[in-house]
Amino acid sequence: MLLGDRESVLLRVEGLDVAYGQAKALHEVSIELNQGEMIFVVGRNGAGKTTLLKTIAGLMKPAAGSVLFMGENIGGLRPENVARRGIAYVAQDKKVFGQLTVRDNLELAAFAAGIKLEQALDIATTVYPNFKERMNVKAGGLSGGQREILLIVRALFTSRRLLMIDEPTEGLASIVIREIFRILVDMKQEERSAIIVEQNLGIVKQLADRIYVMKEGRVIKVISNPSDKAETAGLESLL
Ligand code: ATP
Repeated sequence: MLLGDRESVLLRVEGLDVAYGQAKALHEVSIELNQGEMIFVVGRNGAGKTTLLKTIAGLMKPAAGSVLFMGENIGGLRPENVARRGIAYVAQDKKVFGQLTVRDNLELAAFAAGIKLEQALDIATTVYPNFKERMNVKAGGLSGGQREILLIVRALFTSRRLLMIDEPTEGLASIVIREIFRILVDMKQEERSAIIVEQNLGIVKQLADRIYVMKEGRVIKVISNPSDKAETAGLESLL
């Protein structure tokens, strides 16, 4: 897909500035996502990756710049109004409704997404068959990896147009990282539009249509052809 092809541009963030009080966290950040692409944002701690996703999700207000989604500036809209446009955001904290069962967590998300429970359970057990035996387990009793998968599945219900995931594999055991990688591969095959913040460069290089490298609140590099080894050479040194 050609960058700048106006027909297929889903999201265009332009010149985005965001601040926490007086402290500026993003400086003139611009990124672009075409329909059906999976793009990755990488960078050291504090680079501004989470702030970027939060701003697109409506949890932070831009101080300047725009967040054009399907041609409309959604920058500064309330989170529920962003979600209504089919945009879902999985935060970094892996927080589920711990006192509720897996099934209840899925049911709540299905209700919010306006899909039938049967359909929701079907999606959940297709994405992660292990949920079949865990439907009546309290979500708080799941492993960190299973909680993350539950959150991704819930977001799949509502992300009709765009799914954003913040550090899906952070702090997880390698066995469950492989599960999450498999889920991301499936999402890519289904051409789901996605923005993923991820530090595992092995995953990033295999799945990214484009990589944005952030540092100190700015995009310092855009790798537009991640399958080209020459383009990703030296990426590690930037993180
Ligand atoms: P990490 O990988 O550690 O989550 P990040 O790249 O996602 O890092 P952000 O969390 O977006 O970075 O943080 C960007 C900058 O904003 C950092 O300087 C951080 O200290 C600051 N920041 C983040 N959250 C807040 C907050 N709630 N209040 C004040 N400053 C914040």
